[in-house]
Amino acid sequence: MSDCGCDQAKANLYELLRGELCAEESAPIREHLAQCPDCRTEETVCIRLTEVVRRACEDERDSNCPPEELRNAILKNLRTAG
Ligand SMILES: [Zn+2]
Repeated sequence: MSDCGCDQAKANLYELLRGELCAEESAPIREHLAQCPDCRTEETVCIRLTEVVRRACEDERDSNCPPEELRNAILKNLRTAG
């Protein structure tokens, strides 16, 4: 469960979501996401973080990295909702 590409997928999630990976790099990660619920949760968190941070950046131009607290809050939210 742990060593099936999760590390690689999670390490590259932000780049994937930002569209910074080429097709060759993103394909195996997307494939992994399709079959790994754990990484899909992580992807959802990343997507929400990206949205929240983007919105926050419209107000405060100087915040450019997602705070750990925010990440944990979203994760907790997902668990509660799920
Ligand atoms: Zn995974």
